[in-house]
Amino acid sequence: MDFEFTEEEKMFRESLRDLLQKEFTPIVDEMDRKGPLTREEAIDMMQKFKKIGIGIDPEGSRELIGNPMIFAIFAEEVGGVWPSLLPLFGMGAIPAMFVPVASDAVKSRLMPKLESGEFIGCFAETEPEAGCDTSNLKTTAVLDGDHYIINGSKTWISNATIADTAFVAAIDSSTGKETFFIVEKEISPWETNELHKIGWRASPTGEMFFEDCRVPKENEMGAIMAEAFKLGPKMKEVLPVSDGFMKLLSTMSPVTALLTTPRAGMGLASVGIAQAALDASINYARERKQFGKPIGKFQLIQEMLYEMSVLTETARLLGYKAIDSIVKGDPDARRLSSMAKVYGGEAAVKVTYNAIQIHGGMGLSDEMPLERYFRDARIMTIPDGTSEMMKLITGYTLLGKGFSAYT
Ligand SMILES: Cc1cc2nc3c(=O)[nH]c(=O)nc-3n(C[C@H](O)[C@H](O)[C@H](O)COP(=O)(O)OP(=O)(O)OC[C@H]3O[C@@H](n4cnc5c(N)ncnc54)[C@H](O)[C@@H]3O)c2cc1C
Repeated sequence: MDFEFTEEEKMFRESLRDLLQKEFTPIVDEMDRKGPLTREEAIDMMQKFKKIGIGIDPEGSRELIGNPMIFAIFAEEVGGVWPSLLPLFGMGAIPAMFVPVASDAVKSRLMPKLESGEFIGCFAETEPEAGCDTSNLKTTAVLDGDHYIINGSKTWISNATIADTAFVAAIDSSTGKETFFIVEKEISPWETNELHKIGWRASPTGEMFFEDCRVPKENEMGAIMAEAFKLGPKMKEVLPVSDGFMKLLSTMSPVTALLTTPRAGMGLASVGIAQAALDASINYARERKQFGKPIGKFQLIQEMLYEMSVLTETARLLGYKAIDSIVKGDPDARRLSSMAKVYGGEAAVKVTYNAIQIHGGMGLSDEMPLERYFRDARIMTIPDGTSEMMKLITGYTLLGKGFSAYT
């Protein structure tokens, strides 16, 4: 496997680093402390990324979502500066990527918002009684004339409180099966409630309540998505997908294939956090003096740095190996991306723990970003599939049919 980025990927990483350093590093600590971004702030943040061609509009998402290696670099670099921004793109892209294949009515309402950068999306699957077990959804959609009536509640939804468009999973009462709806707040309003959490403080997370929410029939996306996934090579003309993704479709379901990139991306975002914590610790170990010498001269500090470094490097190798398998359309992408997510998330927790230890009291102070790295790292093992579920997927992919521990 070749770990060298192409010239184009290197240039992207440089311009991204430059953007992050100029626009985000100076504001991250103060803004993260303030809490969830408002809708206006989130739009402003997303528009800054447009300068380097990244977004969730059709053009920007072709670059970001349709190119797993660019997504990986984005996840690692943004993870290293401000992980709270990632759900604006990762989750926001889910409704956005399907707008081009939606009905003409949906396109005419949403395309202008996407193109002007005024679109904030969310993906609403998790429910109070359906966390890991997404087969237990209680939200229902009942067809009534030319509308569906949606009833139910969702929880832990990224961007819920600021989104204008939600991609909502519900059980179609006529089939008893799960399907998805593009729900536009302007014409099909829902209620929300902010949830407060240990890390990713600037990322709004909330509950969503759908009470007799009337959604135009043409916003039902299950059948439309199934058609789009059957398009073969033409799929790339309408959806921001890679050649590797299209190869994956021959060995796994579209949803399983779609989940590989964000899971590997979460692993690499964790690497970004871990690297930031390691870099800060190396600087501190050189400068901070106790007993008349820099603490970096103490062997116990060096052992911590060794552990942090080996965890970070291993998580990075696994993350990019998973991404490489997605680029190639290798069926092993499911196992590798699951392992990258667990390993990366858990590595970031250990690395940021040690980083605080190396900084002593200063590590616990909010005058330095160490405590934020630790809080942000702690989030990484839950969304997009908990560590336990990722381990069970790994077990199943190793053992084969008949060995699923949860179905
Ligand atoms: C910050 C954040 C952002 C999120 N964003 C979104 C979003 O945008 N959209 C969305 O739909 N959801 C989102 N989620 C929800 C997330 O996907 C769920 O929290 C996750 O799937 C776990 O569900 P749960 O919290 O209900 O835990 P539970 O399912 O109740 O699990 C509790 C514990 O039991 C373990 N467990 C459960 N089943 C098994 C099993 N079979 N074997 C072994 N262990 C098991 C879990 O791993 C966990 O440790 C987000 C969550 C967070 C924290």
